[in-house]
Amino acid sequence: MIHIEKLKKVYDNGYEALKSINLEINEGELVCLLGPSGCGKTTILNLLAGLLDPTSGEIKFDNESIIGKHPKDRNIGLVFQNYALYPHMTVLENVMFPLTVGNKKKPKNEAIEIAKKYMKVTSIEELADKKPGNMSGGQQQRVAITRALVQSPKILLLDEPLSNLDARLRLQIREEIRRLVKEIGITTIFVTHDQEEALSISDRIVLMNQGIVQQFDIPQNLYLEPANLFVAKFMGNPIINIFDMKKDGNVLNGKDFSIDLSLLNKDRFKQDLTEENYVVGIRPEYFELSKNPLFNVKVESVELIGKDAILNFKVNDVNAKSITDISDKIAEGDKVGFGIDYNSIYIFQENGVRVY
Ligand code: ATP
Repeated sequence: MIHIEKLKKVYDNGYEALKSINLEINEGELVCLLGPSGCGKTTILNLLAGLLDPTSGEIKFDNESIIGKHPKDRNIGLVFQNYALYPHMTVLENVMFPLTVGNKKKPKNEAIEIAKKYMKVTSIEELADKKPGNMSGGQQQRVAITRALVQSPKILLLDEPLSNLDARLRLQIREEIRRLVKEIGITTIFVTHDQEEALSISDRIVLMNQGIVQQFDIPQNLYLEPANLFVAKFMGNPIINIFDMKKDGNVLNGKDFSIDLSLLNKDRFKQDLTEENYVVGIRPEYFELSKNPLFNVKVESVELIGKDAILNFKVNDVNAKSITDISDKIAEGDKVGFGIDYNSIYIFQENGVRVY
């Protein structure tokens, strides 16, 4: 449905915002563009929308190049974080507006009918006579999405649509957005810098950094099978624990614990470990309280989050975290011993390439 090939964007000041992006997005898919500020998410969205021209590369919708096509002729719906509703118009007038202008203009009665049909789908019928200034952020965002849908576009582009909403409303509206776009079956691209948001609503996630796609995959794989060190560090909360270790024979050594490579799962090695320095990643949930521990630590502090207790401690000279159950009743100052679930650790080369 959306085909992006060797897409590159260099801004007028010479900044290379997108390096060479290749993406293939299927019809009806909900894909999140995820990544830290400045990684190029909005640039991709603006290139798809036609608000920017690429420096080089190809974008096709349904096998047809859209390079050079006017935004109006791309059959897309756009929603921004600031809603951009017309303050002097009612909700109904805002929603029907796209149907009352341009060359595909509809008669007024028909425009009202179509607008009302979509307002029913997004549950904003009761707001029809209100003005945007008298509504909550969540209601305004629903109106903006409805307005983007009335021309029945083939593609819906959403740029951080929830970032102006409070935490609870974000959760609610993101569920609504997923339900809505799946119901309509529209191909949707959703920009966010929030990994939890991306994990919860996407069919697939494009994780970007510095203008390069780091991994394009289903949500589970970004978490469980990170392609590289950047992905492993970006996904997960609390962040994955990272240890610099030195290889000596068949062992990776750290100050407080070592990893015997012969105990690891042979099938998970992507290549032989021939270098001296490696980076080991262990998610906080894969340190296991153990009676035959690999190492012992003193717990420096405990944070309770629901039924989880996050323990902070120092090991191999770095600050580390583990998640235990609140019922383990571990307190600040306690000495605890940890083992490691070897099947769930990751090993990276210093350049970030994952080797296990
Ligand atoms: P954010 O989450 O902060 O919106 P983003 O991932 O959407 O970030 P982009 O807005 O796509 O990032 O910007 C990518 C990079 O390009 C950034 O480093 C940004 O400073 C730069 N950039 C964006 N627009 C321009 C411009 N018009 N001229 C020069 N550089 C730009």
